[in-house]
Amino acid sequence: MTLATLAPNVYDAEPIPEAARAEIERLLTSGDLFRYTSEGSPVQRLESEFAALMGSRYALAVSSCSAALFLSLKALDLPRGARVLIPAFTFAAVPSAVVHADCVPVLCEVGENYRIDLDDFAAKIDDDIACVIISHMRGHTSDMNAIMAACDARGIPVVEDAAHSLGTLWHGRKIGTIGKIGCFSFQSYKLVNAGEGGILITDDPELAARATIMSGAYEHNWKKHAGLQNSFVNWQNRLPLYNMRLQNLSAAVIRPQLPLVAERVEKGRANHDYVAARLNTSDWLAVPPALPPEDRAPDSIQFNLVGLESDDEARAFQSAAKARGVSVQVFGLSQDNARAFWNWQFLGDAPDLPRTRAMLMRACDVRLPTRLTRAELDFIAEALLAAAEDVKGRTPVYGT
Ligand SMILES: *Cc1c(COP(=O)(O)O)cnc(C)c1O
Repeated sequence: MTLATLAPNVYDAEPIPEAARAEIERLLTSGDLFRYTSEGSPVQRLESEFAALMGSRYALAVSSCSAALFLSLKALDLPRGARVLIPAFTFAAVPSAVVHADCVPVLCEVGENYRIDLDDFAAKIDDDIACVIISHMRGHTSDMNAIMAACDARGIPVVEDAAHSLGTLWHGRKIGTIGKIGCFSFQSYKLVNAGEGGILITDDPELAARATIMSGAYEHNWKKHAGLQNSFVNWQNRLPLYNMRLQNLSAAVIRPQLPLVAERVEKGRANHDYVAARLNTSDWLAVPPALPPEDRAPDSIQFNLVGLESDDEARAFQSAAKARGVSVQVFGLSQDNARAFWNWQFLGDAPDLPRTRAMLMRACDVRLPTRLTRAELDFIAEALLAAAEDVKGRTPVYGT
């Protein structure tokens, strides 16, 4: 057997619980796939279950997290050309949602711990910024106390891109409930897998009503959204319909996964922390610690190559890990990576962000699905440790 056949499969998404089958069968038989046909449809139930899970007043299920971000900006009624501050380390869908909403993204530096650089944030947050989107990229939580204080002082609304942060806590508060609106993804490589899908949460009835209508609650379909009757009359026929609804089959796949979130979070965190402790024994690999108020919910691990001065050395590490059966993505080294800001050419000429760039050139990404066993985690950790030694030599043992 070759190493590659022994290597754990980290690419498959989370399997769908058996409980989804009966509901999908029922939907296939009745053909009742549109969320607004029946009262108490699966999508409607998903919304109330998700709102309860998060402790928020309103939830709106939509076709993707990108749609949720777009609708958030539209619900905030930002004028055309409004400047929206976003981290420079995020997925291309985030600046794309800003452009889609006729706004202009302003990129903020991100440090080698994958979190927003607060000095650059303070320098860029001025009265010309109409909205801030905090992307908790790969679930890494930036300092939300500092960010909220700066934004609240200027009355700037914060939208949380919590696509990868379901189950993460900050000072015990759920990520996604700290800003005005929180957006989540059900795309396959997130904690809850529906292939595609997203949801936004808010406590603000006007924002919820506006987002709901624009998501495609045409005519009087808004009556199927509880608790918003007083707000909808303000917006009927006054907002465009973008039709970004979720359909019942997706909700049927998502709902039985919600009770599993807590268990997946716990398992993911244990897996991550186990591999992180092993990688941190190397002089050449560094897993940045979470900020103290954060309880993480990871399903992947990010670490930096330390002392690998050239891109060639970083590539040699990738090849050595690959030869040992583990694929590592270095965000800045793979061609056309959608998380490298210089590839967002649709933004036109943008200023360089040297700090974020330097981080991306040495930051590695490895998926750690929650189902991995201890032996599989050891396989991954040992391959990465050995790959670093292949390139840099043995980690010296001090004191000898
Ligand atoms: C996955 C992801 C998105 C996009 O989510 P979709 O549901 O695929 O639109 C946005 N932001 C972050 C941080 C993500 O990880």
